[in-house]
Amino acid sequence: MRFAELAGAYARLEATPKRLEMRSILVELIKPIRPPDLAHVLYLSQGMLRPEYEGVELGVADSLARRAVATATGTDETAVAARTKASGDLGMTAAELLEAAHRAETDHPLTVASVYRELTTIAEAKGAGSQDVKVQTLVDLLSRATPLEGKFLIRFVLGTLRVGVREMTILDALSQAFADGTKPTRLRIEAAYNLSSDLGLVAGALVEHGLDGLDAIGLEVGRPIRPMLAEREPTLAAVLERMGGTAALEYKYDGLRVQAHVAKDGTVRLFSRRLEELSLQFPELVADLPKALRRLPAIVEGECVPIDADTGEIQPFQLVSRRRGRKHDLDTAPTELPVCLYLFDVLMASGKATYSEPFPARRTLLESMLTPNDHVGLATQRIVTNEEEAATFLDAAIAAGGEGVMAKSVKEGSAYRAGARGYWWIKYKRDYTVGLADSIDGVVVGAFQGRGRRAGRYGAFLLAVYNPKRDRFETFCKVGSGFDDAQLAEMPKRLAKFESETPPPEVETEIVPDRWMRPGLVLEVRGAELTVSPIHRAEQGAVRPGAGLALRFPRFTGRIRDDKGPTEATTSQELLEMYRLQVRQEATPDAEKGDDAG
Ligand code: ATP
Repeated sequence: MRFAELAGAYARLEATPKRLEMRSILVELIKPIRPPDLAHVLYLSQGMLRPEYEGVELGVADSLARRAVATATGTDETAVAARTKASGDLGMTAAELLEAAHRAETDHPLTVASVYRELTTIAEAKGAGSQDVKVQTLVDLLSRATPLEGKFLIRFVLGTLRVGVREMTILDALSQAFADGTKPTRLRIEAAYNLSSDLGLVAGALVEHGLDGLDAIGLEVGRPIRPMLAEREPTLAAVLERMGGTAALEYKYDGLRVQAHVAKDGTVRLFSRRLEELSLQFPELVADLPKALRRLPAIVEGECVPIDADTGEIQPFQLVSRRRGRKHDLDTAPTELPVCLYLFDVLMASGKATYSEPFPARRTLLESMLTPNDHVGLATQRIVTNEEEAATFLDAAIAAGGEGVMAKSVKEGSAYRAGARGYWWIKYKRDYTVGLADSIDGVVVGAFQGRGRRAGRYGAFLLAVYNPKRDRFETFCKVGSGFDDAQLAEMPKRLAKFESETPPPEVETEIVPDRWMRPGLVLEVRGAELTVSPIHRAEQGAVRPGAGLALRFPRFTGRIRDDKGPTEATTSQELLEMYRLQVRQEATPDAEKGDDAG
């Protein structure tokens, strides 16, 4: 397949903000493609070379790409920089310069296979001399590229390919291009993706073996599963009612979710909630998990929380965030900021998948295979059958440093549902009964210049929730409170790579910020209540025609959700659900709220 076809499709995708049209372009693009090109096209279209969890990076800085553009087009590097200054888009500059160079048509037009191979060479170049290899490989690619191809190649290597194809759109397109496009089919394809986290693998199986081929995609140690997610209820009574009267309650530990893959030989790989590898950051877990677990190979899940090394007591989550982001002194971190991983589920044991077994069976298995040690523990659990027991357990959870409880269904059908949010798990935090239920994870889509003490830097941010049905980011608040000086100073650095000259097509709002941001950074906020507002677009029209949901008195909690990608932020449907819970709560007289009223 010619790379020009892919570049042409990107140009069309870029030109439309309409999701349905994007899907048709994608369907038309992928329909004739077969493996291995198919997987490569899917990865490339998401701005990646391999599935996200592999963490493959190209390691191409702006200056390196600029040098390649200059060399390939015979232009002075400073001239390339000057030309790029206004648009901020080196891809565009590359296209203009390639156009102006009037080169003869190449005898070797780029193919997807050759581009993919060369980009892999760029990613794999490490150590001494690697910069030269990267530049030269990019120069070779550019000298065979058309202006349009050059534009997208440069954007790809810089991580700014903005064709807006997210995994939900790709799943839709796969279902239409290679199957009947019905809802059950789409769900089957999504289920295979949830288990494997690899769209290339799913697409290949679908094309080569049809829908039945998807069922053959099982769990594999080292390949993360997309996490099961929880719903909310406003009271413990409502939680129990949902669960049918009996539930397994567990402490809700406040830390980092970790999925641990332990191979037969004791090799450990740790993945975060968004499936980034964390193994380097937590050497003590890598060392202690094989000692704690029998029945390898195994895949287990738990929450990693900071602890006081002397007492074992749970500490505030911020301390574990510091471990997560750390790149240096990784060997001293375990003593400086000690942690413990509290396991709450098992998805594979003795090499066999266990995720489809009911939760009580999985818990029994987990208990039987675990010998806790200093760094690996078992989530505290109790089966409760009435509100009083639940309230007592909640008190114990809070006293032990938890932020509430997780209720888990013990019914026959209580399998682990990868990548799905449902009422098989319900989270209940102590503060649900005061003001707004739960915090909201919002995606930054814009920033405002600060005033007064904040002059010269950003002072507030426009936040959006994700609407998966429409694949759009819909705004719900502008937040400026809750940031301390250090956090504000950090924001421009955190946001630099998401800055956009124009409103990102996937963002929906009535507000124009000083600087647009492509959806990327996720911030946790709290607020007084959810209301309806004509200037915000979250679930517009769901409560009142023309109005969206908005958060009153939003406040940053201090927590940047690095463990969430933009599509993992709170969804607009969740926001609507929270709005409804709040309305229901307001309708409940205090006396009826009972003991759990915080
Ligand atoms: P969500 O994961 O639902 O998108 P979130 O990441 O903002 O939301 P919370 O609202 O805090 O997280 O609740 C779910 C998270 O709680 C899980 O992803 C997991 O990290 C954590 N957790 C803590 N204790 C447990 C437990 N015993 N069982 C399951 N999850 C737990």
